[in-house]
Amino acid sequence: MRNNHAHVSKYMHRLLAALTLCLLSASPVIAQSQTSGSLPHVTVLATGGTIAGTAGSETQTTGYKPGVLTADALLKSVPSLGKIAQVSGEQISNVGSENITNDVLLKLAKRVNQLLAQPDIAGVVVTHGTDTLEETAYFLNLVVKSDKPVVVTGSMRPSTAISADGPSNLLQAMTVAASPEARGRGVMIVLNDRIGSARYTTKTNGTTLDTFKGNDAGYLGTLVDEVPHFETSTLKLHTTSTPFDVSRLDSLPEVDIVYGYQNDGGFMYDAAVAHGAKGIVVAGVGAGSESLLTLPSIKKAIAQGVIVARSSRTGGGFVPEDPAYVGLLGDDLNPQKARILLMLALTVTKDPSRIQEIFHQF
Ligand code: ASP
Repeated sequence: MRNNHAHVSKYMHRLLAALTLCLLSASPVIAQSQTSGSLPHVTVLATGGTIAGTAGSETQTTGYKPGVLTADALLKSVPSLGKIAQVSGEQISNVGSENITNDVLLKLAKRVNQLLAQPDIAGVVVTHGTDTLEETAYFLNLVVKSDKPVVVTGSMRPSTAISADGPSNLLQAMTVAASPEARGRGVMIVLNDRIGSARYTTKTNGTTLDTFKGNDAGYLGTLVDEVPHFETSTLKLHTTSTPFDVSRLDSLPEVDIVYGYQNDGGFMYDAAVAHGAKGIVVAGVGAGSESLLTLPSIKKAIAQGVIVARSSRTGGGFVPEDPAYVGLLGDDLNPQKARILLMLALTVTKDPSRIQEIFHQF
């Protein structure tokens, strides 16, 4: 019975994919590449990270310099990209992703929207350090106003390492960005043969190649021999279905994350409020629990109009309603993604109940 069901649903997926392809062939971009026989045009926006990093020896995989190779050098290092798409590259920044700021996020998002508004551009690939890659990907997932594929990739080993993963990750990201099947799925994270959604994919290990995981939601699909096989899609709203508009924004409201631990004091909340935080994400213990030692400061922050949202420092699981604690529920977003969403929510409303809805929708 189970097998039958799986078989039927796989068949339905294929049918839907075929139908989508038929519909998409009416769009100007696809029609152009079909009639002229030319390859789709994909732009790579490079921001730095290990994928653009170099080390002193082929065995060195930590302590290297991230963000050395330029966008041009990255593209030249993978000649097969030209078999998949007409590729062009632009440098947005060239930094380790711990140094990606709100300014870089806004610059990147505005450029992605400009590019995708051009009829001749089929998709965009963003190369990025893996440490905060999921935050940038989720930000784009919330502010890109297009159904065209946007794929974020990076690498765990620098370009000089034996078995460097950057070239193959870039090739796979390009394959997905050039694929009509990838349209309308929200921003994707592609590394290590996996296609993940920006909403759910997270970095789970500091050094291993298989670090990006989809947690409870799993992956959207897998790449085999440079062919993307999509299996699922996410139900959370994204891209064209969000109310967030970066074209009007020059800055983002300050939202800080405060980590929960035994014997934690409220002073971190006081400091965030004194610094001007408009929102605070609690990286609470377990399912977003707050300690008795911190509650007075959290309540004081809320009384001063700061929006507080609870998330879990475990990195997974939903935060439930609990009368013992205060603040909005961050759904099942990890603290770093809850921060991204809260920053954007605060650009459209200060109303806590509307922000709570936003946490459940996106
Ligand atoms: N520190 C690097 C970065 O995030 C790590 C990496 O790219 O894998 O830029």
